Amino acid sequence: MGALFQAVRERVTARDAAEAYGLEVTRFGKALCPWHSDRHPSLSFDKRTGRCKCFACGAGGDAVDLTAKLLGVSPLEAAQRLNEDFGLGVTDAANRRPSIPIGESPAVRRRREERERLREYCRLCDALQDAAAVLARFTPETSENSPEFDAALRRWCLADLQLDNF
Ligand SMILES: [Zn+2]
Repeated sequence: MGALFQAVRERVTARDAAEAYGLEVTRFGKALCPWHSDRHPSLSFDKRTGRCKCFACGAGGDAVDLTAKLLGVSPLEAAQRLNEDFGLGVTDAANRRPSIPIGESPAVRRRREERERLREYCRLCDALQDAAAVLARFTPETSENSPEFDAALRRWCLADLQLDNF
């Protein structure tokens, strides 16, 4: 494992990792800091050390640290990803590695979460409408002791509550 970290640190810079995993680097060599909610690129890259550092929040690190942050994985998983994606060929760690989850860049994850949220919202609206349509078929008399009415009412209340909290 030490050999893996060492190989990655020697051969992959934080800037390489930024570019590989979707963190856009400006032509001034700066990027939006993933460690704080950065609106102006505060993260700079040091060519000599291969590390990065944020001038706003002070966070930073090497390729492994940055990759771990960008992909939301542990440092070991980050090092394994870099080993694989940069073809470093450090095999002793590769042989022992468990399956590596496919990482997402922050931008890709944000888009996926937005899509999922929209889908969930549509699902709740549909559920509310379906339940309301069932409830509308009942009168105060027929609704009494009706399991179907009770079930629809529960579905309606649940969807209504979830939409309120959305
Ligand atoms: Zn920062």
